[in-house]
Amino acid sequence: MNRVLLAVVVLLLAVFPLIGAVPPFWVTQMNYIGLSSLVVLGLLLLTGVGGLTSFGQAAFVGIGAYTTAYMTARLGLSPWVSLWVAIALTLAFSALIGMITLRLSGHYLPLGTIAWSLSLYYLFGNLSFLGQHDGISGIQPLSLFGISLGADRHIYYLIWVILLLALWLTHNLLYSRPGRAIRALRHGKHMAESFGVNMPAYKTIIFVYAAVLACISGWLYAHFQRAVSPSPFGLNYSIEYLFMAVVGGAGSVWGAVLGSTVILTLKDQIQNWLPKFFAMDTNFELIVFGLLMIFVLQYATGGLWPYLSAAWQRITGTRNKAQVVADVQNALQRQAEPLPQRAKPERGSLVLEVDKARKQFGGLVAVNDISFKLKAGEIMGLIGPNGAGKSTTFNLISGVLPLSGGVVRFAGKAIEKLRARDIARLGMARTFQHVQLIPDMTVLENVALGAHLRRRVGILSALLHWDRRSEAELLHDAKKQLIRVGLGDYLYEEAGNLALGQQRILEIARALAADPVLLLLDEPAAGLRYLEKQELARVLSQLRDEGMSILLVEHDMDFVMRLTDHLVVMDFGTRIAEGTPQEVQQSPAVLQAYLGGLDEDLDLDDESQQNNGEGV
Ligand code: ADP
Ligand code: MG
Repeated sequence: MNRVLLAVVVLLLAVFPLIGAVPPFWVTQMNYIGLSSLVVLGLLLLTGVGGLTSFGQAAFVGIGAYTTAYMTARLGLSPWVSLWVAIALTLAFSALIGMITLRLSGHYLPLGTIAWSLSLYYLFGNLSFLGQHDGISGIQPLSLFGISLGADRHIYYLIWVILLLALWLTHNLLYSRPGRAIRALRHGKHMAESFGVNMPAYKTIIFVYAAVLACISGWLYAHFQRAVSPSPFGLNYSIEYLFMAVVGGAGSVWGAVLGSTVILTLKDQIQNWLPKFFAMDTNFELIVFGLLMIFVLQYATGGLWPYLSAAWQRITGTRNKAQVVADVQNALQRQAEPLPQRAKPERGSLVLEVDKARKQFGGLVAVNDISFKLKAGEIMGLIGPNGAGKSTTFNLISGVLPLSGGVVRFAGKAIEKLRARDIARLGMARTFQHVQLIPDMTVLENVALGAHLRRRVGILSALLHWDRRSEAELLHDAKKQLIRVGLGDYLYEEAGNLALGQQRILEIARALAADPVLLLLDEPAAGLRYLEKQELARVLSQLRDEGMSILLVEHDMDFVMRLTDHLVVMDFGTRIAEGTPQEVQQSPAVLQAYLGGLDEDLDLDDESQQNNGEGV
């Protein structure tokens, strides 16, 4: 949201309860919208951005509400004490169940969240010190600077100040180093890990963050309602929150406010109107919501926010995502020191040693005791027909797949037991045969994700925007890499809008941003036009001259023969030849594999052959 619009919205929110003509009911309704928005904001991050569906948020609201209800109404403690106790309880509890349930994948995760949220719900209703199904009443209103917030018009300000603060913090978080990692969670299991991102840790972080927002909402709710009972913390409310998040959409943190407003207003209107048409005492809103949910999931998967922002852009004539781009540009405006670079091994020293690496998928031996060595400052090619096991070899080296046998040594260290993110830390970076980018993120930010390990920015400094300097340094480096590979004109474009060939080059820039010792490139020239290939060849030769070691899988023989110093040829998982490009070209086994076998798509004699488009 741009600054002028934001100021107008804040001003409107500030004067809203003061306008005499506004009915008190609307103020109350705005309080409910604010309280829901807090919960939905967490879900937006968790489900909309992170792709982790939780049917349990209402239970965290319950923890906040019951903690303060018990501590203030029963023990007579201050609500400002109970707030911190509630947050501490939520932190501990959500971290614990997060670590357990977030391991579940697919449909098991939502099912897991349903299980623990039901358990909590029944716990609230059965513990005698929490008043069982009657709950706890007689909760005192909050007071701030001696002013009681008992009236709806007064607590309104606290609710909305907290909500605006949460929106600001969450926005900051999303557009930061940790935020890029969070935005990567949904896009491929291996990509972010290959740049050192600890995915399970970030999943837990957003889970805990969402739980804390829900808890604060519950704390406010208890002092607004002055009574708590189990029902608002049950599964149907969790579903309603999730629905609000889906309707709002994760395109902006404001989607949370939009979703809550739409659903709560609709619910209120339906409850008013439908009984007038149907003389029954049923929860009609559930039926309408069900239909609306189907509609949204079918036609507006990004929620309503994109429509609203598109309409706004049409009215004002601003560009898509203009604010995000402006933020990134602002960050780039700052002067930044270049990021420190890691010490590179001496040219000619051994960088990578693969010794009898083996991978079996059930009965299929995809990589059959492959061995080779790669020296610093060398471009080595790994070639072979489709299905020869080249990509699998890459996955074994980079830790994406565990080996069935053999040893991989990188920079003098055995790495075959390490995880992808630990290998990345040692200075290995890669691209993927099937491009793995975050399509709705700018090109610049995608590349900055590659530099994840080069700066430490904690969650707190990201939330509070204390990371400006590191952020500028990371973005400057990303820009440098993009210019280096020739994508300098596309810094602020959404990565998904680039042509496939450019996306491959973007992946190289992202890998370079990791400041690697060894670069693994899986078919980088596939989908590139002739001139683009020449440009890529120039970039790779230049990298070699700077001392970079490169392992290259490529189908375009012309490209490989010109560029590489050394080749390993694979067929059916086995190494069939090794040597200089000239030696390999004359090897009978290679000629047999390429020309005599079923795979006829490579012609070693035809130097002019360009990319055949295989394996993109
Ligand atoms: P290349 O990259 O040389 O074209 P791959 O390494 O992708 O070949 O595949 C080698 C063989 O291993 C192929 O037969 C492929 O079907 C098989 N394979 C690759 N990945 C898997 C997997 N995850 N599960 C089962 N088989 C796989
Ligand atoms: Mg492959």
